[in-house]
Amino acid sequence: MSEAKANIGVVGMAVMGSNLARNLASRDGNTVAIYNRSVEKAHAVAQAHPEANFIVGESVQDFADKLAKPRTAIIMVKAGGPTDAVINQLVEVFEPGDIIVDGGNALFTDTIRREKAVSETGIHFVGAGISGGEEGALNGPSIMPGGPAESYETLGPILSSIAAVAEGEPCVTHVGTDGAGHFVKMIHNGIEYADMQLIAEAYDLLRNVAGLSADEIADVFTEWNTGELESYLIEITAEVLRQKDAETGKPLVDVILDAAGSKGTGVWTVQTALGLGVPVSGIAEAVFARAVSSKPAQRAAAADLPGPAQAVAIEDRAAFIEDVRQALYASKIVAYSQGFDAIIEGAKEYDWDIKKGDIAKIWRAGCIIRAQFLNRITEAYAQDNDLVVLLAAPYFTDAVTKAEQAWRRVVVKAVESGIPSPAFSSSLAYYDGLRAERLPAALVQGQRDFFGAHTYRRIDKEGTFHTLWSGDRSEVSAQDTH
Ligand code: NAP
Repeated sequence: MSEAKANIGVVGMAVMGSNLARNLASRDGNTVAIYNRSVEKAHAVAQAHPEANFIVGESVQDFADKLAKPRTAIIMVKAGGPTDAVINQLVEVFEPGDIIVDGGNALFTDTIRREKAVSETGIHFVGAGISGGEEGALNGPSIMPGGPAESYETLGPILSSIAAVAEGEPCVTHVGTDGAGHFVKMIHNGIEYADMQLIAEAYDLLRNVAGLSADEIADVFTEWNTGELESYLIEITAEVLRQKDAETGKPLVDVILDAAGSKGTGVWTVQTALGLGVPVSGIAEAVFARAVSSKPAQRAAAADLPGPAQAVAIEDRAAFIEDVRQALYASKIVAYSQGFDAIIEGAKEYDWDIKKGDIAKIWRAGCIIRAQFLNRITEAYAQDNDLVVLLAAPYFTDAVTKAEQAWRRVVVKAVESGIPSPAFSSSLAYYDGLRAERLPAALVQGQRDFFGAHTYRRIDKEGTFHTLWSGDRSEVSAQDTH
């Protein structure tokens, strides 16, 4: 084992930490120190990967002693309390100027809190979202670091060396200060939920309305993956659909229990967006759809409720498949547009200077939502970083305009067939809401004024007004009512 000091350390030797440490060790010029609460796991990782030449820390103090100063350590442990515990231990043995990076899936408000506390000691704290699962950690993830810009000067080259590469560029950028990195990672995961739900709805329609087999749908997705929908999620969906169950010989998808799990980042995204007042309806529907799927007692109790009297006929299968493709693309554009809205509002609320085009760029490789289409988002923000809404960028306006009729036909078919398509339908409803000249919100304002004197504004003059609903129903200026 080398006597040299390590230039980077990793704490947490479960799958993510050990893979990230191996990735770091495989890059020229890096010597990696590793530490784990149960030290034997760190030794086991070092023994299993002698090529990495890891330096094992026997204790937190020993780990700190084996790092060259200023020290840099990436924490990859369970999110929540364990992350706080490790941060506290490192703060005890690190010195001002050292950098602690939390690469776990932290809630961004925890990251803001942690940075505040750690920075008081003179130690830098960086919350970095790391996407791509175990495979990404080993071969190149998409990395979303927040924290002080100053620490990115040290961290940037290290993270760039291990990140995924898209069209020659490493998938890492300094997202913004304190919790910005974990915030953007959270939105990434929310978009991932929406994208997966939309693909699942497309599958359901092809299977149960068009009557295609799992293998035929796999072929459809493989074909779609050569066009504007090209993405990792479409690619793996085809692979999942082609997989056969060894025991029954059936498509694996037919024997998997239809109850979707989650680890909570979708819920965080929706909760945060609700607080910011951003309609992320595609993401919310995806979270709710998983919740519906995971309620066996309620589903059993409702199983005999009526559905459509007869199956809806599809006259032209090929045309329907193309309609579903277009509906998927349009709904996907809405989901991303809503996700970027959340980034814009989050940046305003927390005072982050987030370059939206750079975010789309670092999602092009290494992460789960990697897709061809992200280049179009980068281009849209390169043309106008202050774009009010992504849907209004010329490329996306054009894309949804082309898809619009097909999108409506698909939602109609889904409704007539009794096939749940909450993400397709709500994306279309959002689109129609956004483009509407007048919304029934005027009536809602009238109702609010009736029961709560909440007042309203008028389209034809300045000011705030109230109707004397329980009096003579004349209108008064709101100031007069107080
Ligand atoms: P994990 O199962 O989330 O965590 C296991 C690690 O946490 C072990 O090293 C464990 O040490 C350590 N740990 C637990 N409690 C501790 C405590 N109180 N004090 C000190 N260490 C403690 O591991 P993971 O799946 O590799 O994920 C690591 C982080 O990456 C998590 O934040 C996760 O959310 C995030 N992440 C995971 C994925 C993924 O695909 N798995 C993807 C992206 C991000 P012991 O061995 O001593 O128990």
